[in-house]
Amino acid sequence: MKIALFSGSFDPFTLGHYEIVNRGLQLFDKIVIGIGINAEKKTMFDTEKRLFFIQETYKNESRVEARTYSNLTIQFANEIGACAILRGLRNSIDLEYEKTIALANRHQNPDIETVFLLSLPEYSFISSTVVREMIKYKGNIQGLVPDVLIKYLI
Ligand code: ADP
Repeated sequence: MKIALFSGSFDPFTLGHYEIVNRGLQLFDKIVIGIGINAEKKTMFDTEKRLFFIQETYKNESRVEARTYSNLTIQFANEIGACAILRGLRNSIDLEYEKTIALANRHQNPDIETVFLLSLPEYSFISSTVVREMIKYKGNIQGLVPDVLIKYLI
């Protein structure tokens, strides 16, 4: 079974992430969405809520599982038997950033590939940062995040 780890902070999970996972499901049998826990990083949503939003979004999709981890992404990928780390690319800034991480991960464990999917143009402006700003200033988040988050905020 081909398992991929889609890692990130997901603060919160957006439709940009959702779209990458959906396309990833065509390449892998199972996708584990791994929320990396960094105690020093301040987040808008606590770990339990970030996990809940993802679990609710995929409650009818048995091939997607949401988990948290606090070790290195590459270590967690190995732990869950993943053959790949899945990441999304929106632009050249993402590419530069992702390239460094992917090479560092390869240095740790060359058996786990990093696979990149280019975000669709209509989703490439979406980021968790933009969503957090919209939430903070009561902007419109329709079309940016899954329904579960919209319902939670009402
Ligand atoms: P991190 O804190 O590790 O950057 P994020 O939660 O921001 O985690 O993102 C996780 C992954 O999803 C990253 O590979 C990021 O590039 C990708 N991603 C984020 N937003 C989008 C989007 N709108 N379209 C495609 N990929 C995205």
